[in-house]
Amino acid sequence: MRIAIYPGSFDPLTNGHVDIALRAKTLFDKIIILVADNGAKKGNYLFSTQERVDMAKKVFSKYEGFEVESFSGMVVKYAHDRDIKAIIRGLRAVTDYEMEYQLHEINHYLQPEVEMVYLMANKEEAFISSSAVKEIYSLHGDISPMVPEEVLDAMKKKLG
Ligand code: ADP
Repeated sequence: MRIAIYPGSFDPLTNGHVDIALRAKTLFDKIIILVADNGAKKGNYLFSTQERVDMAKKVFSKYEGFEVESFSGMVVKYAHDRDIKAIIRGLRAVTDYEMEYQLHEINHYLQPEVEMVYLMANKEEAFISSSAVKEIYSLHGDISPMVPEEVLDAMKKKLG
């Protein structure tokens, strides 16, 4: 079975993330959505790890072949320990490229047998980011075209 990991903060999950995950699923039998529970952003998350996991579980339970887990540690180590060979990332503007390139080099150095697989953002979702969603919501803008309805509900519950 071909399995890939799609790691991220997903704080919160957006339609951009969902699009990447569904397109990745056309290439693999199973996608593990791996919700980050550590890293530089820890403490800056709006949603707790459990909340981010719950949101992703609700959204992806509608589709076949997805699992949602959280992790604290290195994604390549997680992949290596489970004999998973592919890590999915999404690319929006060139600004994503620089960070992803660095991440690729580090991951490749640590675990050369694990391949990073990059999918380009769809035009419709390329402008969506978790931080934009949070900012627009805090300014009372309409985020409903940008996130799944389960995420909109969670945002309302969290921020009113
Ligand atoms: P991280 O903190 O690991 O960057 P994110 O949740 O911000 O986690 O993003 C996870 C992955 O999804 C990254 O590869 C990011 O570039 C990608 N991504 C985020 N938003 C979009 C989008 N709108 N379209 C395509 N890919 C996206």
